[in-house]
Order: sequence, then structure tokens, then C-alpha cells
Amino acid sequence: EEDRDLLGVWGFDIDEDDDDEADPVVAIVGRPNVGKSTIINRILGRREAVVEDKPGVTRDRVSYKAEHSGKDFTLVDTGGWEADAKGIDAQVAAQAEIAVAGADVVLLVVDAMVGITATDEAIVRMLRRSEKPIILVANKIDDLHQEPEVASLWSLGMGEPYPVSGLHGRGLADMLDALLEILPEHSQFAEPEVRGGPRRVALIGRPNVGKSSLLNKIAGEERAVVNDLAGTTRDPVDEIVHLGDKPWRFVDTAGIRRRVHMSKGADFYASLRTQTAIERAEVAVILLDVSEPISEQDVRIIQMAIDSGRAMVLAYNKWDTLDEDRRELLEREIDRDLAHVAWAPRVNISAKTGWHKDKLVPALEHSLQSWDSRIPTGRLNAFLGEIVAAHPHPVRGGKQPRILFGTQVSSRPPKFVLFTTGFLDPGYRRFITRRLRETFDFTGTPIEVSMRVRE
Ligand code: GDP
Ligand code: GDP
Repeated sequence: EEDRDLLGVWGFDIDEDDDDEADPVVAIVGRPNVGKSTIINRILGRREAVVEDKPGVTRDRVSYKAEHSGKDFTLVDTGGWEADAKGIDAQVAAQAEIAVAGADVVLLVVDAMVGITATDEAIVRMLRRSEKPIILVANKIDDLHQEPEVASLWSLGMGEPYPVSGLHGRGLADMLDALLEILPEHSQFAEPEVRGGPRRVALIGRPNVGKSSLLNKIAGEERAVVNDLAGTTRDPVDEIVHLGDKPWRFVDTAGIRRRVHMSKGADFYASLRTQTAIERAEVAVILLDVSEPISEQDVRIIQMAIDSGRAMVLAYNKWDTLDEDRRELLEREIDRDLAHVAWAPRVNISAKTGWHKDKLVPALEHSLQSWDSRIPTGRLNAFLGEIVAAHPHPVRGGKQPRILFGTQVSSRPPKFVLFTTGFLDPGYRRFITRRLRETFDFTGTPIEVSMRVRE
């Protein structure tokens, strides 16, 4: 409130991105070509989801911000689900199941003009196991005289089918009204810590860095499998692991425990999987193999975590293999390639022997604490006042931009906006960012500092 008043005085307009409570999540699932993308485009009111006539092999899960009757929700597109899919299709199907696991409500789309197929029935079985509320969407009902086709869909046992035409928009408002009725106020899945659930960790790193070794070492016999989505045919998605005296939710452990061998596109899917895990997590433990030089791939994975705005811990694994020479080289590689993440806590471990595995939890907790933190506006501006007084912005062409006011607009990760009388030099912005880090201890979290220039 106080912030807003101040902002009003300065004449700024700001969108407060308060992401403490996530919007509810709606996943849209159905076999290829039933019209999922078309429906999404209708709901979004713009041509954003890609519509293609061939089954969506290149599409993975894509999230959109959507709105109906003044209520916001996140719409997750899935690439299409097929039973007994192999290779790339299996990956797409796995993506759909992950999307369902993270959804509050699922829109199941069927092609009413084709009727129920064996694939639709398999999807229904997958959805039943998920125990998520379902809305059955009977698509391609373009006009009234096609509506009788809908009656046969009752036999799916998914309740009342809602006849719609994604193409023309017919019936969508009624279907969305029904959706809103069962949609919770906030996501029950995106932010488990809001409900006091375990915090979500992604264990990532390039192949052979020791992810599965570490998981086995820390999970031991204690682990509990969650989201066992597809019974015997598919691997579990997450595991609850007790570390210290707390449960932690390790996301997408299936991707760690089962090695997916694919001749084509393996790199692409490994990277997709990593991206998915990061997005589902709050904090990423990035494993690096000290027995080998830090590679471009390591740097890329770290960048993914930064870009996704997740908290981070760097775990240097295989420390048991290190001799003096390699150790010296390693430190040099770190200085050269990882200087930009010097803020991430570092733990040296051996997944093989279990050495230092107890160092992980304090590092995770420190990073998450930074990620969650909110700096009160008063403190932030006292800090800005001091730093600007001691180190004013250099004069450029007779002008000296001033920082009028700053505020933290969101956390997870912390984002700041500085209101200024002119553009700050990149160097000066980096200086402010560095001082922010030092003063408020943002160990383990990316932070963002942006500017609003008052004309
Ligand atoms: P997806 O693979 O499930 O995302 O399906 P798409 O949205 O790509 O649609 C597959 C095909 O069905 C496209 O040719 C669409 O134009 C067509 N389609 C989608 N919705 C409707 C509809 O309501 N009526 C008719 N007649 N065709 C539709
Ligand atoms: P992932 O592909 O990241 O899951 O890696 P793995 O856990 O399968 O490990 C790859 C190889 O590295 C295996 O042969 C492991 O035994 C070995 N390894 C993993 N951690 C360590 C470690 O801390 N020390 C040593 N010496 N070897 C390790």
C-alpha cells in the first residue's frame, strides 16, 4: 500500500507481480488432431499456439496465461497423448502426464465427429489414475445439428460432455464457465510450500556427472515415490526424500533413474527434460564432474537455471578422484567459466562415497531463503540513498541520472525496479546489483534489477 502511494506520487505505473500464490493450472490433453491447439487459440483470443495438421511431435508442454470471466489461470498445452507410443511420441506422452500431474483441472478433448477411439480410452485410464478433476470437451461440433453426436461420449464415464467448436468458438464460454466452477482459487500444485509441502529440488547436470549415484546415495531406502502416474508401464515422476529432518521433493527422478536411449534427438530431449525439471523445481542442484573440464554443456545447464529464475546450488562431484594438478586446473576453470555464478553456494561432494552429502541441505536452505526473501521498501531505499550518496552515477553529456526510488516487485526470485531520471549505465547497474547482493545476502538466487525512466 505504502509502495503504491509513493509510486503514485512519482507518477509511475507498475504491475505488481506478486507470485506468492500461483494461478490455478489447467492442462489440455487429448490425442493428436482433436483440436487442442485450436481451442487454446480460441481461449487465448489470439493466434499463439501452433496449429499443425500433423500430430504434434515437436511440441512439448507450453504454458499460457489465460483468463475467463475475470479469472486468471495457466493453460498448459500438451503435444498429444498416444498409448504405447515409442521414441519421440513416448516423450510427448510423458510430457502430457507430467502436465497432468501439475494441473488442478484437466480438459480432455475428444473429436466428437470421430467418436471414441482406443486412444481416447487409454487417455481416460491415464487420467483416472491421476485422480484430477476432468472436463470432457467434445470438439468439432460446428453447428446445432451435430449435437446428437455428443451423446455417445457419456460412455467414457467422464461425466457430461461439453459440445464446442474450437474452430468457431461455439460452446466454449459454457465449457469455461463449468471449468471455473471447479477451479481452485490458487494452484494446489505449482506452489507446494504455500500448503506447507516439501520444497521441490531438481537434480540436474550433463550425462555421467553422477545424478543417479547421488540420488541413490541420499535417497537410500527411505524414498517414497509420488505421482506414480501410469502404474507399471511408466516410471514415477517425483520422489520424496528425507534429508536432515525434512522431506524434500526431488522432481522428475524418472528422468534420472531411467536412461532413455534414443538414436535421434537424444540431446534435444535430454535438454527438454532438464528444462522441465528446472521449471517444476524451486531450486536446482547442478552437478559438475570435477574429473573432467567444465564443458559448454555445463555452462548451458547453469544458464537454463538462471534464465528460469530458480535458486541454485553448485555441487562439484567426484571429489574423491581429485589430485593436486587437476584441482588447480579446476579452480582456474571455475574462475574463467563460472565467475557469473559466483553467488551460488558451492559444495564439494562424492556421490560414490557419500562424502559431504550432509552439506547439501544447508546449501539448499540458504539458496531458497534468498530466493524467497523480500526486502522492505524502507530498508531498500535507505540502502539506495547511502550508495548513491557515496557513489553517484557518473555525469554523461552534462547529465547525471538519479535514482529516485526503488522497490522489490516480487520474490522467487527477487526482482527490483529502480525509478530513475535517466538511463543508468550498464556498469552502474551492475555495481548496484553487486551491492544489493552483498548487503542483503542473495546467496544462491538470481536477482533482477530493472529500471523505469521517468521522462
Ligand atoms: P491438436 O493436434 O489436438 O492440437 O489439433 P489442432 O488444433 O492442430 O487441430 C487439428 C485439425 O482439426 C486442424 O485442421 C483444425 O483446423 C481442425 N479443427 C480443430 N477444431 C475444429 C473444430 O471445432 N471444427 C472443425 N471442423 N475442425 C476443427
Ligand atoms: P548420471 O548419468 O548423471 O546419472 O551419472 P551416474 O550416477 O550414472 O554416474 C556416472 C558414472 O560416474 C558411474 O560410473 C558412477 O559410478 C560414477 N560416479 C558417480 N559419482 C561418482 C563419484 O563421486 N566418484 C567417482 N569416482 N565416481 C562417481
